Amino acid sequence: MAGEQITSEQKASETPWLDMDTKPLIRLSGVTKKFGEFVAINNVDLDIYEGELFCLLGGSGCGKSTLLRMLAGFETPTSGSIIIDGKDMSDVPPYERPTNMMFQSYALFPHMNVAKNIAFGLEQDNLPKGEIEDRIDEILKLVELQDYKKRKPQQLSGGQRQRVALARALVKKPKLLLLDEPLAALDKKLREQTQFELANIQEQVGITFVVVTHDQEEAMTLSSRIAVMDKGEFVQTGSPTDIYEFPESRFVADFIGSANILEGKVTEDSAAHVRVATDLGEIYIDHGQSTKQGSRVWVAIRPEKIHLSKKPSSKNGYNQAVGIVDDIGYLGNTSIYKIRLKNGHIVDVTAPNQIRPKNRTHSITWEDTVYLHWDASSAMLLKK
Ligand code: ATP
Repeated sequence: MAGEQITSEQKASETPWLDMDTKPLIRLSGVTKKFGEFVAINNVDLDIYEGELFCLLGGSGCGKSTLLRMLAGFETPTSGSIIIDGKDMSDVPPYERPTNMMFQSYALFPHMNVAKNIAFGLEQDNLPKGEIEDRIDEILKLVELQDYKKRKPQQLSGGQRQRVALARALVKKPKLLLLDEPLAALDKKLREQTQFELANIQEQVGITFVVVTHDQEEAMTLSSRIAVMDKGEFVQTGSPTDIYEFPESRFVADFIGSANILEGKVTEDSAAHVRVATDLGEIYIDHGQSTKQGSRVWVAIRPEKIHLSKKPSSKNGYNQAVGIVDDIGYLGNTSIYKIRLKNGHIVDVTAPNQIRPKNRTHSITWEDTVYLHWDASSAMLLKK
């Protein structure tokens, strides 16, 4: 409703990590996991709150599955503690934890039909037959597979199998659902569509999800927050916008999306702005960050935040450069332009293809001289 006030409780429920009074559902304190001498997880602390869809994101071997397996109880920390729902998990076996895990392979029973696959866990818990049937109907409705009860897994598509695995994991109403690369087996188009479905289902059931993925787009679409991991540590934790727009290091700026990263020297440091001398000329950043004049820093500019034109467009002496179009990558919806500056430096710029090629009489092409400029709020100052 227009003009409706958002109460502080509503705000806290959307961003519980900013509210000092909200207790986390999961608390990792000083957790380390070693395999022999190899440190897979190095002394990490993390709080995850009820209702979050939290992604552990990182490249191969960074330790994300190990962390998920420790939450599930399949691995034991070498040191540190894991608390879930107020209880220390040190001596709690997997089957007694308030968690359930959805595996990348889905691990469906091939000889059982959809209903039986979903019923399995409930039958193990000796739930009355009528309640099992009601719960199966309810969960199949949620994942939109009401008409597939009698099918065996091999009679389903990849996306349908994924939804059965999700239904089976959710039907036991765990406090926490752990998902290891839940969409990895799907093709790109289906994966994109399923990302939204998964996020919607999570919102409807309100169960906390911790998702492992190496796909940054997937993490951006799904998450309330993302922990970016590298070599067994968290390099940055925050909302998708925080991570993308305010990366704290070159590693994160480059890992999430793409960025032109330039080394530079601070030439002016005031409360409201910073100027940095780089290979791309002088860069003026209008959000002051405490740094020192003369210090060595890096500046990152996302390719979509640079404007390209055939005529010079700014009279300022900063936040602009001139170059020659060295290469163009046509992706359909956008194009990537590789612009070679006089000093040989290549800058990536992306631009949406709003006009169809036939009509693009003024379009930019190979070997054109082009002018680059960007807003004073677009460049990101990085100190590491
Ligand atoms: P991927 O995306 O490739 O699955 P990951 O981030 O999930 O990677 P992990 O499976 O957590 O990575 O593994 C982290 C590191 O720990 C890797 O270097 C891996 O080789 C090592 N590791 C994992 N399990 C064991 C084990 N049981 N014994 C020895 N080393 C292990």
